[in-house]
Amino acid sequence: MSEKKPFEIARETLKQLTTQKLVPTPANYQAIYNSIAGVPVVPLVPPFPADTLRDIAKSLPVKTPGQQKQRGLLEYAIDRLNWDGVKTALVAYGSFSPLTASDDSAAPAAKPATGVGAPALTNEFLGQMGLLIEHTQPALGTDDERFGELTKNLLIALKQSGADVFALKTMLVNYSDRVSFVAEDQAEIKKTLLKLLHLVFENIAELSLDEQWLHGQMEALMSAATPPLTLRRLDDVERRLKDVIFKQKDAKERAVQAQNEMREMLAMFIDRLSDMAKSTGSFHEKLEENARQIEQAKSLAEIAPVLKEVVSATRNMAAQSKTSSEELQTMRAKADQTDAELVKLHQELDRVSTQARHDPLTGALNRKGLDEAVEREMSSVRRKETPLCVALLDIDNFKKLNDTLGHATGDVALTHLATVARECMRPQDTLARYGGEEFVLLLPDTQLEKGIEAMTRLQRELTKKFFLAGTEKVLITFSAGVAQLSADESGADAIKRADKAMYLAKRAGKNRVVGG
Ligand code: GH3
Ligand code: MG
Ligand code: MG
Repeated sequence: MSEKKPFEIARETLKQLTTQKLVPTPANYQAIYNSIAGVPVVPLVPPFPADTLRDIAKSLPVKTPGQQKQRGLLEYAIDRLNWDGVKTALVAYGSFSPLTASDDSAAPAAKPATGVGAPALTNEFLGQMGLLIEHTQPALGTDDERFGELTKNLLIALKQSGADVFALKTMLVNYSDRVSFVAEDQAEIKKTLLKLLHLVFENIAELSLDEQWLHGQMEALMSAATPPLTLRRLDDVERRLKDVIFKQKDAKERAVQAQNEMREMLAMFIDRLSDMAKSTGSFHEKLEENARQIEQAKSLAEIAPVLKEVVSATRNMAAQSKTSSEELQTMRAKADQTDAELVKLHQELDRVSTQARHDPLTGALNRKGLDEAVEREMSSVRRKETPLCVALLDIDNFKKLNDTLGHATGDVALTHLATVARECMRPQDTLARYGGEEFVLLLPDTQLEKGIEAMTRLQRELTKKFFLAGTEKVLITFSAGVAQLSADESGADAIKRADKAMYLAKRAGKNRVVGG
């Protein structure tokens, strides 16, 4: 025990409070007083501020069921004077706090100091948001500079650890506003480009010389360039357009040449006609003049020279007519020759079209087109390591169909099969005419079982959409073999395996699908 008197202890206590710069609360005073007086230090437990805490609890907004539950738990803890309970309830309440627009009004002092560490807004979460924005970026284009800048800054902010969530939120709101405009713009641009593309197609079709071939090509182009677009379909559009342009360029050069020849001939013909008109005119004048002389002649002697003139003029006229007639005949022969050249030109165009990548009858890819498509699919298989199925189908008893209904009807039946196949294929599948009545289908991302299913589905479709030969319903059936490309196998080898399986399907009674 100290021997100091109470007033001395009190004075000393006040001095210590000042020198230690302590807040002059009763608790601090008592602690120092006790230490000077030598009274054992009893741990100071401040009274539980239940009323104040209840006040705080009451003013907590409840916007979510989670917040409501935590506020109830807080009040329960306050009633039991339980500090731990108060702490747990408050921390849990904080994690339910939604970052809504109404939080904008929050004063800076209300910012959660550990915002980034809160369960819903971890650095990892913000990082993921950054990745999401980065990955969507290519779809939104790079035309809008302001938007580009906004995105760049947002990405930088999202990647910073310990980012200010409130500043981030403002940036996200701006970004989201802008994104809606940019995305709308992109959709509009795509729609307009497609419209332009269709206009180009229509224009090409209008200018077409070889109408039938182009008509088919244009329809295929239009349908290939209709949403939903896939890269494969656009690839198809590109190849078809190349074919058309190539063919038209060739056709135009030849047509211009033929036109020039015709023009030259017409000019010659008109020259000849006007020469003939002139000479006929002077012949008439001469005859009239001679007739007058004959009328005025008083003797035969006067007539004789006139007659001589008439005979010579007539002879000249006959000679001129003969020349003109010969020249006209030559011109006629030349016109016939030009005509024949035009026919040859059309035949040549057909030859060119067979060199293209599409089969003119069915619109499916031809062998050349198939080779290119196989190459493309193979590189995709290697890149993505996805399965690829190859199917080969051969129409059953097609010779009989030709024999009974005629070759032309057989042609329409082939077109019908190609149309139904295209309708029930996915956009990413490819159809090619492999031979006369044989077709190959490339089915990407498809396991063998699914490939067999797809071909069986096509068989079913053909029973529903039967082929009409005039008014007669004709059921077209086929036998098919399906092979799934194995590792290190070439596309051609897979087609060979599908062909073998197709042969087995024929042997087993036709109208069936066999996996190879
Ligand atoms: P299978 O069920 O065994 O396949 O019998 P099939 O009669 O279908 O087969 P085959 O190979 O004996 O005959 C195929 C027929 O397909 C012969 C040919 O005249 C016909 N063909 C091939 N290409 C065309 C074409 O472009 N148009 C038409 N109309 N017929 C074609
Ligand atoms: Mg065959
Ligand atoms: Mg056949």
